[in-house]
Amino acid sequence: MHKTGSSSSLGPGGLDIARAFFTPIDKSAPPSPTKRHTKIAVIGTGNVGMAIAQTILTQDLADELALVDALPDKLRGEMLDLQHAAAFLPRTRILASVDYSVTAGSDLCIVTAGARQIAGESRLNLIQRNLSLFSKIIPQLAKHSPDSILLIVSNPVDVLTYVAWKLSGFPPNRVIGSGTNLDSSRFRFLLADHLDVNAQDVQAFIVGEHGDSSVALWSSISVGGVPVLSFLDRQQIPYEEEKLENIRKEVVQSAYEVISLKGYTSWAIGYSAANLARSILRDQRKIHPVSVLAKGFYGIDGGDVFLSLPAQIGRSGILGVTNIHLTEMEAQKLRDSAKAILEVQSQLGL
Ligand code: NAD
Repeated sequence: MHKTGSSSSLGPGGLDIARAFFTPIDKSAPPSPTKRHTKIAVIGTGNVGMAIAQTILTQDLADELALVDALPDKLRGEMLDLQHAAAFLPRTRILASVDYSVTAGSDLCIVTAGARQIAGESRLNLIQRNLSLFSKIIPQLAKHSPDSILLIVSNPVDVLTYVAWKLSGFPPNRVIGSGTNLDSSRFRFLLADHLDVNAQDVQAFIVGEHGDSSVALWSSISVGGVPVLSFLDRQQIPYEEEKLENIRKEVVQSAYEVISLKGYTSWAIGYSAANLARSILRDQRKIHPVSVLAKGFYGIDGGDVFLSLPAQIGRSGILGVTNIHLTEMEAQKLRDSAKAILEVQSQLGL
């Protein structure tokens, strides 16, 4: 087992360098508190896990970061490589182990472990490969961090978030799938590109399944507070329903394109997960399209299903689902997306 922290203070001959280096200003004062404030665990140190870890460090989101992977040498290498950047980063204690005890007391556990999509493979095909893996991971996380929030990233993310919810026994507000937070960013990028505006000024949600059956909520898209369809009218930019649907398809395709070009996606999901970590741990109460227990919302019934809806996120996880207006067609597409996920889930026997 490898387990290394970033704060060894024992020098040659057992001299405690930290204590020898500084003279306490008040010798009677109790030692400075060692209790950390925020701990994040990242499970799986592949392309996605490391992009997330990297973003967490650069954005100063945790006092302690615990990494877990099944490959001890790769894991130790990644830990050391990150620790060696200590002089350029905010101070974060970085730990790594194949043993889940390293994650104990985490506030947030981000799960990226798993087989990744290969070119042309749909996310739903990954399910069997990742299900048995989750039955090893999730109970360990629940045991060592019973009060944590689980953020699931591994694909197919909606089904695996359901699996994590079942295996953890956590309440649904503390089990979140990264869902379409990334798809929505891709959507906002493409819309911004089409309209030649800043993506941060584009409010737009992709909801439903993270993947092929995702739904673009055109009726609620706005740019700088202006509903997009009337914005297009004002700018005299012609549009057709089919063209709008093509933009959504482009969002879905863009993931496959990145995978076919570089073999995997990493940077955007790294930022997406860190964005969610910030909203959770800093209690930002922002609205994100993330995978939540969706039963009962927008006419979704037929079973417990996780899929992305615009949800308010804070320190206790999911605070609530936003009641935005959907057209009947959008609501129907959402229900179809739920049905597609439920069909896969029904084969799991959970
Ligand atoms: P990768 O193969 O590079 O990394 C997966 C890591 O998981 C490996 O390091 C592997 O050793 C580790 N692992 C395997 N079994 C393990 C176990 N039992 N315990 C701990 N670690 C274990 O894959 P990747 O490119 O990093 O992708 C990871 C996952 O993230 C995939 O499922 C991928 O589809 C998914 N993903 C999701 C999104 C999203 O938006 N939700 C985006 C991109 C990728």
